[in-house]
Amino acid sequence: MGGQRGVAVLGATGSIGVSTLDVVNRYPERFRVVALSAHTRWRALLKQCLIYRPRYAVFPGPEAGELQRLLRAANCSTEVLGEPQGLEAVARDAEVDVVVAAIVGAAGLPPAMAAARAGKTILLANKEALVMAGPVFMEAVARHGATLLPVDSEHSAVFQVLPPGFSGNLQAAGIRRILLTASGGPFRTLSATELSQATPRQACAHPTWNMGPKISVDSATLMNKGLEVIEARWLFNAHAEQIQVVVHPQSVVHSLVEYADGSVLAQLGHPDMRTPIAYALGYPERIEAGVPMLDLFRVGPLQFEPPDMARFPCLGLAYQALEREGSAPAVLNAANEVAVAAFLEERISFPAIPAVIRHALDSQPWRSLSSLDDVLEADRDARETAKAWIRGRYR
Ligand code: NAD
Ligand code: MG
Repeated sequence: MGGQRGVAVLGATGSIGVSTLDVVNRYPERFRVVALSAHTRWRALLKQCLIYRPRYAVFPGPEAGELQRLLRAANCSTEVLGEPQGLEAVARDAEVDVVVAAIVGAAGLPPAMAAARAGKTILLANKEALVMAGPVFMEAVARHGATLLPVDSEHSAVFQVLPPGFSGNLQAAGIRRILLTASGGPFRTLSATELSQATPRQACAHPTWNMGPKISVDSATLMNKGLEVIEARWLFNAHAEQIQVVVHPQSVVHSLVEYADGSVLAQLGHPDMRTPIAYALGYPERIEAGVPMLDLFRVGPLQFEPPDMARFPCLGLAYQALEREGSAPAVLNAANEVAVAAFLEERISFPAIPAVIRHALDSQPWRSLSSLDDVLEADRDARETAKAWIRGRYR
């Protein structure tokens, strides 16, 4: 089967994983699912294995044995791998051409690095990996001839409207700025007082996108956009001043590129992650994604406004971390993950999220990053600091 490409979907049971399999499923002649992974919800993984019959399923939980038994009983030859080695092994596997990095958070970094070092095509949804490890990750991609394609809708939009063959030099390509759109999240219009009472359930009820809980909270704090600013810095080799966030509540314009001649090119579409996923899977071809076409007569007026950094301090903290470089983005990301988890468990308030992050950024020593170990150490230390601060204040 000449053109068939082997695909590993890491984080297969999540929102991005499920959307990816929905697109892959439309093209059995193009794609073969070689590996699927999940962290919880082993029954969902079992169902996926019975449909896609991958060679490997990675599952670290105590139910791995039961998963393997049920697969055998159903005459499915999928081999269940545990952790810590499973994810990295499938990311490097010779049968895998494309690694879809759709794990949420820092846990996705080691397998994404393994894929980069094995020279794979990486479809990156796991923005936290790039935020933490920017220089180390990009160096591995370049050195090992890996191909990095964005799945994040904003970065896919930018990628789609960059000039063909963009070399990584914005100025040479006649580009002045990258305009990243943000929906503004579910709390866009809330007052500071209302924000102090915001609950996890409200934070997870996103107005335009249907996503996992962590990124939903990140969208509510605008940290998601902050992480995306740092992601854009690495993907497009842009300085902080060349990246402008634009709040656009309708989520129809997914991002824009401003050129020196005054042209601003945008990518529009129905807010459905299957579009950027299909673009990355088919690249450089366009393939069908199962997404309804955008009906301009029904979208109505489109609004654009500047972000409010006073009500949403996380965005400013991300710009600060970007400017400090080195370990600062890893510290920002680690403290944010700890704070978001504590908020989801109702242990801290919504405005405490940026407070935790600010504390970690101000108290952690700055380090330069030259290896994956440096990144993981900065991540570990920042998590401890953030957890200790929360314990000290909230018990
Ligand atoms: P999700 O919570 O729906 O799914 C996460 C997946 O990762 C699940 O399969 C889960 O089992 C797995 N996972 C969780 N913790 C893990 C761990 N410690 N080790 C290994 N696997 C683990 O999340 P999502 O919304 O699909 O987001 C995934 C990534 O994609 C995130 O980095 C997010 O920022 C990014 N992203 C998501 C969207 C979206 O629309 N959902 C859009 C852009 C970017
Ligand atoms: Mg996004």
